Amino acid sequence: MNYTTFDITRIIRPHLLTLKPYSTARDEFQGVADIFLDANENPYPSAYHRYPDPHQRKLKEKISRLKNVSPENIFIGNGSDEVIDLIIRLTCEPQQHSLLITNPTYGMYEVSAQINGIKTIRVPLTDTFEVDPEKVLSYVNPSVKVIFLCSPNNPSGNLLNKEAVRKVIDSFTGLVVVDEAYIDFSGDGGFLPELNKWPNLVVMQTLSKAYALAGLRIGLAMGNADVIAWLNKIKPPYNVSSAAQEYAMKQLDDQSTFRKQVEEIIAERNSMVTKLSGIKTVLYVYPSDANFLLVRFTNARAVYRHLLSNGIIVRDRSTVLHGDNCLRITIGTPAENKKLIETLNKFEPTGS
Ligand SMILES: *Cc1c(COP(=O)(O)O)cnc(C)c1O
Repeated sequence: MNYTTFDITRIIRPHLLTLKPYSTARDEFQGVADIFLDANENPYPSAYHRYPDPHQRKLKEKISRLKNVSPENIFIGNGSDEVIDLIIRLTCEPQQHSLLITNPTYGMYEVSAQINGIKTIRVPLTDTFEVDPEKVLSYVNPSVKVIFLCSPNNPSGNLLNKEAVRKVIDSFTGLVVVDEAYIDFSGDGGFLPELNKWPNLVVMQTLSKAYALAGLRIGLAMGNADVIAWLNKIKPPYNVSSAAQEYAMKQLDDQSTFRKQVEEIIAERNSMVTKLSGIKTVLYVYPSDANFLLVRFTNARAVYRHLLSNGIIVRDRSTVLHGDNCLRITIGTPAENKKLIETLNKFEPTGS
């Protein structure tokens, strides 16, 4: 899609076009005041007796500077899960429209579609987990409003080929969401530098992984200002709490810890590829641009149970497409990774 052919009203569900969004007390009064008697809050101070900024202005400004994206192009959700849900609810009519995803990928796209009564079309990735743009486009039919592409992909860990992704964005007339939850571990700048090239591109990121804030619930969508404005119109007004906004600002200020941890995790990941490859029960370690490894074992179920009985939990991905006998292993601290390797070395296939 390009800006001359993009029509936002074709993207939005028709009944939303006339929506008058909820106007918060703080939306209706914009000036400076000393006494706030407009929101039925308890007047006695506690850390959080006031409602949060529904527009997350300060947090957006900080993210804007860090990512070089204007605040009007940034949406902040209560985790990426809320962003996924809102994108679906903005664009897809229940029982009528569908979502296109590649397979295997992050499970929440399909769950969220299901909750919203939306059909999911699954396009298989190649056996090296690459996206075939021709194949994706051949599965598109008029009911498809949104395509989700995950890069680096979960659970395979690989960055998708950029030319392939560009081809999909260029040719598809609905929204293309590129989920970059793991982009900071990839050494690649992802699609943010190309955000202005396409009106139908939405880049999703999160503070849950590299920024170490999974418990806080901060998910980001970045894209065309019209699409972002629509997401803002349909979101719950106070979807990001004051505590979350404040703590996220603090964490984003500490870029040196962020960079140090990301570097360490990448170094550990690379060393774990070598160490895992030397283990008897390991058949293959997929190359990863993320903070986890997809590993094929001789018997994934038995290895899973062995790890569990030693207090180590990994994710069994053996039932996903191309994932036969695969476990997905998150990169931990050096001590945790060492324990994992020691435990795997103690695995006796016959004894399980
Ligand atoms: C972990 C993950 C997220 C993060 O979701 P949050 O709701 O922001 O915690 C998003 N997308 C993918 C592919 C993930 O693996």
